[in-house]
Amino acid sequence: MICCYIGLGSNLGDSRQILTEAVSKLATLGTIKTSKLYQSPPMGPQDQPNYLNAVVQLETDLAALALLDRLQGFEQEAGRVRLRHWGERTLDLDLLLYGDETIQNERLTVPHVGVLERDFVLIPLLDIDAELTLNGQLLKDLDIVKQSTLSVLDGLDWAHI
Ligand code: ATP
Ligand code: MG
Ligand code: MG
Repeated sequence: MICCYIGLGSNLGDSRQILTEAVSKLATLGTIKTSKLYQSPPMGPQDQPNYLNAVVQLETDLAALALLDRLQGFEQEAGRVRLRHWGERTLDLDLLLYGDETIQNERLTVPHVGVLERDFVLIPLLDIDAELTLNGQLLKDLDIVKQSTLSVLDGLDWAHI
């Protein structure tokens, strides 16, 4: 079993319902834990709604690319359409961490490029494992974590899983 972390985001449609359904689908792939539910301002184009964000920890036997296939399938089922880079979407599922593996190929970069720069990823990761490290760095000690003003919308059982 590999312990991986998946970042969830949505800012189109009924985002809360879409993320709840995504958590149910992720639970079919292995054993999961969910973070709290957050709201964050958009990255990139500012003329789009705020995002709902969360992180799911998944313990699974799936290989990394097989997992990416499943994540992209779930994005499609949620009606994701590519409009513009970092633009609005019904569902984004990013593979943040896959055990302690480093993966670099044309479809997959793990750890995900945004992990250390995005408070809407770091804060929910720490909900699930407060002692999580990346490259020997305790994530809870990062300045971006200490300075974050991310809004919590709901507690750990928001997805009722
Ligand atoms: P960002 O990756 O900066 O959060 P995004 O999530 O909007 O941006 P997408 O349009 O969802 O980007 O994905 C673009 C491509 O990124 C996908 O086709 C996928 O192959 C690739 N990709 C590379 N590494 C990862 C990863 N760790 N998780 C998910 N997709 C990845
Ligand atoms: Mg993303
Ligand atoms: Mg993505």
